[in-house]
Amino acid sequence: MERVEAEIEGTRLVLVQGDITRQDVGAIVNAANPQLTPGGGVSGAIHRAGGPEVTQAAAAIHKGRGRLATGEAVITTAGKLPANWVIHTVGPVWHGGEEGEPELLARTYRACLELAVSRGIKSIAFPSISTGVYGYPVQEAARVALRAIRDFLRAHPGELAEVRMVLFSPADFAAYRRAWEELSG
Ligand code: ADP
Repeated sequence: MERVEAEIEGTRLVLVQGDITRQDVGAIVNAANPQLTPGGGVSGAIHRAGGPEVTQAAAAIHKGRGRLATGEAVITTAGKLPANWVIHTVGPVWHGGEEGEPELLARTYRACLELAVSRGIKSIAFPSISTGVYGYPVQEAARVALRAIRDFLRAHPGELAEVRMVLFSPADFAAYRRAWEELSG
């Protein structure tokens, strides 16, 4: 399986093609909806694989605090998943790029990384947030995501052992690899 590895201030950055529900890391990130319901896409897959514990924990958070705003992140158990935690976040819907989408997407990645660090979580795996139903063009999202991750790791040296981007399709993997080559080259 295709894979890219780099090192940023003591943290391993990995790009890999695969399924986020199979990742054995401290936390996987869910591209959730504001209601924190299972829905489709990666969220449906995470709730299915994690089982009712995940869905119930997410529902309890929604009951307590209401809808999650774009760029916010919360954490639940991972149920039956191999990861220990699920960080649920809401990325921006793509409206053409002139409505602050890049800054909102960067904020979404930062919120997840901050939450992981604040909980002492050492490894985190992300899906390609916003590039499914939310319509964010994947090549542009890849640039924003990798820049946000790189900048966070530079500001928090050594706090995380690994940040992994798990790209579901070969085309998404290729887009992230290209974005990383541009950013690091
Ligand atoms: P959003 O609403 O944020 O766009 P989606 O779930 O529609 O979220 O899609 C986000 C990305 O997750 C898409 O690139 C989709 O192909 C990918 N995806 C779907 N299932 C999985 C999975 N099991 N593991 C990793 N990525 C997945």
